[in-house]
Amino acid sequence: MRKKFAIAIHGGAGTILRSLMTAEKEAAYTNGLTAAIEAGNSILEIGGSSLDAVEAAVKSMEDFPLFNAGRGAVFTNKGTHEMDASIMDGNTLEAGAVSGISLAKNPISLARAVKEKSGHVFLCGKEAEAFGKTVGIAFQDESYFYTAERYKQWQDVKDSDIYQLDHSDKTETGERKFGTVGAVALDINGNIAAATSTGGMTNKRFGRIGDSPIIGAGTYANNKTCAISCTGHGEFFIRAVVAYDISCLMEYKGYSLKQACDYVVKDKLVKFGGEGGLIAIDALGNIELPFNSEGMYRAWSVVGETSNVKIYED
Ligand code: ASP
Repeated sequence: MRKKFAIAIHGGAGTILRSLMTAEKEAAYTNGLTAAIEAGNSILEIGGSSLDAVEAAVKSMEDFPLFNAGRGAVFTNKGTHEMDASIMDGNTLEAGAVSGISLAKNPISLARAVKEKSGHVFLCGKEAEAFGKTVGIAFQDESYFYTAERYKQWQDVKDSDIYQLDHSDKTETGERKFGTVGAVALDINGNIAAATSTGGMTNKRFGRIGDSPIIGAGTYANNKTCAISCTGHGEFFIRAVVAYDISCLMEYKGYSLKQACDYVVKDKLVKFGGEGGLIAIDALGNIELPFNSEGMYRAWSVVGETSNVKIYED
């Protein structure tokens, strides 16, 4: 019998309206999501680990300027980039995280290096980058992270108190979305893993840390329950401890993956005021991709089935 493997990814949730999307932009996002799924799948297909697969998928999206992570990261209120990322292995429960990263090309690889080579779980800012240099992580100069679209988004809100939006309500499109990226995967050995990477929110106060690098909030993985990567308004996801909450509902209350995801994203978070979504997988290869916003860039693939790429609710 063919062993089961599967992967799901997201490129952010938010107010993503069909009426505001051009055909070119939709095609570009679809290409970015497809390339990321392929990057992860090519590892799973040859028996590679879920950890390698989620890192590869997230790296692919970090290198793709349309997503708010790595190259396409949004600007802070100081006009800088401060990226956050985390990764967790559901087999060992080992995790690595970084925040306030400005020049590492792939913050997710730096988070993985923290997990495997630092003896710690979470490093921040310049010291995290200094550690990255000692373990061979790739760096870029500032110009690599400049994209005209992100700069314009920041210019639109920079003299206000508005933060959060990687597409702001104040832009002429009215589009609002959270463009964090993430991946969850199951490998042929039955191990699951999760990874999340983000530039945070446009015009965020420098020094602000969102949910993405916080283990249990934006990212969590445990073979016994599920692997989760979140996207949305980070302050709410931190306070609701979203990723671990889903795992706990499965572990302590016997919820299925779907029951736990639906309850947390579509009921609890909505009442709490937390807009966004997440991707989830369990060790049987069940996948859930719930969100309570208009859309979420997402894709998933299960061995033996075709891959799917979706943006809107339907
Ligand atoms: N959750 C991220 C943050 O608050 C934003 C996003 O999902 O795009 O930093």
